[in-house]
Amino acid sequence: MGKPTGFLEYLRELPLDRPALERIKNWDEFHARTEDKKLQEQAARCMDCGIPFCHTGMLLSGMATGCPVNNLIPEWNDLIYCGLWQEALERLHRTNNFPEFTGRVCPAPCEGSCTLGINKPPVTIKNIECSIIDKGWDNGWVAAEPPAVRTGKKVAVVGSGPAGLCAAAQLNRAGHAVTVFERADRVGGLLVYGIPNMKLDKRLVQRRVDLLAEEGVTFLTSTEVGKNYSVKRLSLGFDAVVLCTGATQPRDLPVPGRELKGVHFAMEFLTANTRSVLTSKRDGEFISAQGKDVIVVGGGDTGTDCVGTALRHGCKSVVQIEILPRPPLERAPDNPWPEWPKVYRLDYGQEEAATVFGADPRVYLTTVKQFVGDDQGQVQAVVTVQIKWEKDAQGRFVPKEVPGTEETRPVQLVLLAMGFLGPEQSLLEQLKIERDPRSNVKAEHGRFTTNVKGVFAAGDCRRGQSLVVWAFNEGRGAARECDRYLMGDTQLP
Ligand SMILES: Cc1cc2nc3c(=O)[nH]c(=O)nc-3n(C[C@H](O)[C@H](O)[C@H](O)COP(=O)(O)OP(=O)(O)OC[C@H]3O[C@@H](n4cnc5c(N)ncnc54)[C@H](O)[C@@H]3O)c2cc1C
Ligand code: SF4
Repeated sequence: MGKPTGFLEYLRELPLDRPALERIKNWDEFHARTEDKKLQEQAARCMDCGIPFCHTGMLLSGMATGCPVNNLIPEWNDLIYCGLWQEALERLHRTNNFPEFTGRVCPAPCEGSCTLGINKPPVTIKNIECSIIDKGWDNGWVAAEPPAVRTGKKVAVVGSGPAGLCAAAQLNRAGHAVTVFERADRVGGLLVYGIPNMKLDKRLVQRRVDLLAEEGVTFLTSTEVGKNYSVKRLSLGFDAVVLCTGATQPRDLPVPGRELKGVHFAMEFLTANTRSVLTSKRDGEFISAQGKDVIVVGGGDTGTDCVGTALRHGCKSVVQIEILPRPPLERAPDNPWPEWPKVYRLDYGQEEAATVFGADPRVYLTTVKQFVGDDQGQVQAVVTVQIKWEKDAQGRFVPKEVPGTEETRPVQLVLLAMGFLGPEQSLLEQLKIERDPRSNVKAEHGRFTTNVKGVFAAGDCRRGQSLVVWAFNEGRGAARECDRYLMGDTQLP
């Protein structure tokens, strides 16, 4: 512990984001960097408490408590306070293959369980993580480290999202010849075609992909296993397979008018937008929100990304519909530390909407009853209704409409962001993989083995739509078990 009194001397401080009105003019990242001296002070706030929870990654009340990749947070806080940046980077890379991604997009369950957070604002762990790795890249400390020895074993990783990239990095490190299959035209999964550029610059993803390629990983894009690359070829050509295909089936909203023009799944909107940003083609290839009244159905992260994207297009108005109640400002009594704090947050998209239109765009305890179209079949209005949550005969909370609360709002673009149902089933059926009751791949966490010998599963296709940091946890774990299967033993963490 560098400075025993640091937590008494320094307040929590983060760099100011670029102002909302300025940042919605482009697709550049909006977080600013922190100068070294400030970072040292922030790291000095770490108390080196007796029993830290920040790195535990446990599940409490169904939510992650502490870092799911078990980042050695108190250790690197101490190293930063002492100015030992390169040592901190080495310690960070021991548990996290790509900290520049989590340092930007992780919701930071570590901070929710920081001991200082019991009665003071927690240590700025995520910002410190991001600063360590950014400094590492700036100074050329991140370089290719190909394995010294090759095993002669071949592994296929299907899907190049964060789970697939971690699995590939670890298996390659163990000396196996790794091929990553990706059906999209770019490598990265939702790191590229889900999370928008202003949260995670796609050049940072490509920089890692290039490094992995230099280390010996082969990437095959525009190659969909089970479609233009047969499962027979896969089983004949490889000693083991790690499935990291994500949970990409969106939840639909089967109400009257769903079929109208202008009603889209969020991912149709976000994916096409990022593709056009990356190719610099603003040529009508994407769904534009310009000049439109936009309704986003779903109050989660995907919905927030739709709000931020619609604002950058220059929408006329934006409303985000959320079926749940507004969370409290402080932890509720049944949500104590070190659980993930279920409290009200103003994320970047809502902050931007509030700056442009004067209020948080979210309306709570509300759902959609129907969409109304014009005579061209184009959506022009949405009918919403307020709901309340009541217990049914089995004691489960269910939404009930509040009579007389219907409201009609103008809309020309609707984005459905109500979560995901699970992985696409076609490849799993072809491989005869068992599924769990939620349609995810059946494979125990920690072992990651499926019912088919030599086939492992990791990330959202196994646990359902989750977080980048859990995809890292699973990709690393599946690589470890795959290596054990191939070699009889493993040195991978
Ligand atoms: C809009 C959006 C925003 C998000 N924002 C955040 C955030 O800010 N922070 C956070 O922590 N999490 C966020 N998430 C969640 C996070 O992105 C996912 O949990 C994570 O990407 C899952 O990783 P994965 O590798 O399991 O799957 P994915 O990232 O979904 O990657 C799966 C890949 O497999 C490919 N694939 C599928 N089938 C095949 C096949 N048969 N052959 C070849 N390739 C195939 C797909 O094309 C895809 O590229 C967000 C999710 C969405 C949708
Ligand atoms: S990966 Fe997420 S949970 Fe882990 S230290 Fe970084 S911000 Fe915290």
